[in-house]
Amino acid sequence: MSKKPECVKVVVRCRPLNQKETSDGHERVVEMDVKRGVIEVKNPKGAESEPRKKFTFDSVYNWNSKQRDLYDETFYDLVDSVLQGFNGTIFAYGQTGTGKTHTMQGSKASKEEWGVIPNSFEQIFQHISQSQNQQYLVRASYLEIYQEEIRDLLSKDQTKRLELKERTDTGVYVKDLSSFVTKSVKEIEHVMNVGNNNRSVGATNMNLHSSRSHAIFIVTIECSEEGADGENHIRVGKLNMVDLAGSERQSKTGATGERLKEATKINLSLSTLGNVISALVDGKSTHIPYRDSKLTRLLQDSLGGNARTVMVANIGPASYNYDETLTTLRYANRAK
Ligand code: ADP
Ligand code: MG
Repeated sequence: MSKKPECVKVVVRCRPLNQKETSDGHERVVEMDVKRGVIEVKNPKGAESEPRKKFTFDSVYNWNSKQRDLYDETFYDLVDSVLQGFNGTIFAYGQTGTGKTHTMQGSKASKEEWGVIPNSFEQIFQHISQSQNQQYLVRASYLEIYQEEIRDLLSKDQTKRLELKERTDTGVYVKDLSSFVTKSVKEIEHVMNVGNNNRSVGATNMNLHSSRSHAIFIVTIECSEEGADGENHIRVGKLNMVDLAGSERQSKTGATGERLKEATKINLSLSTLGNVISALVDGKSTHIPYRDSKLTRLLQDSLGGNARTVMVANIGPASYNYDETLTTLRYANRAK
């Protein structure tokens, strides 16, 4: 069955209860009907007026979902369209601890545990190795946005901050962002590992830091091919894979000063992203607020138009996550 490709697709994934949650006796309040794309969340406070809330999505993935199934059903076509010269963006959204990094990176321990990023590397280089009349050039960049500041995760100097610039011909770009030509899965994996290591440089608390910054891995694929006219034609596609900052409402935790400023900026870029996506989905808006955050400005040419976007909204199953889970489902619901 082939469906018409949609410009924005939103799927929800719920992780399993972890060992601690199980041994502490936490109840699972999320129920999923995978076939019908339905999620129900039970109110643990047992409110009689509204004991459960129900949402419907294109696809939902429960605690038994396999990384590979998610990839084949949700990301494969997007990566394929990038190989054809279109832009595409994959977002992992959700509260800290719900599986964003698991979805994007996964674990290296076994191939079954690979997340989207390593699976996309394999798809890209497999496609290239099977092509006959095309020449490909694959480049990788990796950056982080923290407090509306851009850091190049592949640069030797991790103290440098980069600026967004705009050119009339090529649009918005990050000035001086490094990019490495990679010729194999191994080479691009190496680039990713270097960036992952740099993410923790300068962070006193890695968990805190990664929950407050957006990490964006960018693969640019240039394909040149001789056309029927005997001329060489070049197509360029860009794949952005984004592990977003945690969506938990940080300002509620009584943050002050620097922490509060940080929280406001995280909330701003996530709410702007929600506004941009819902304006794109709506299709009637004349104004798309790309300019309201660095994240959306940077991704402007990969959101909307001919570009494809998939957002995975990650949730936790336990009762104590009820409020954040509902907030995430409402955000995702608005974006679809
Ligand atoms: P986040 O990046 O959203 O903060 P993580 O991806 O680090 O969350 O996930 C938190 C923990 O839960 C990790 O130990 C991760 O391995 C585990 N986890 C997340 N999603 C799943 C899943 N679908 N299946 C099994 N374990 C998962
Ligand atoms: Mg993470």
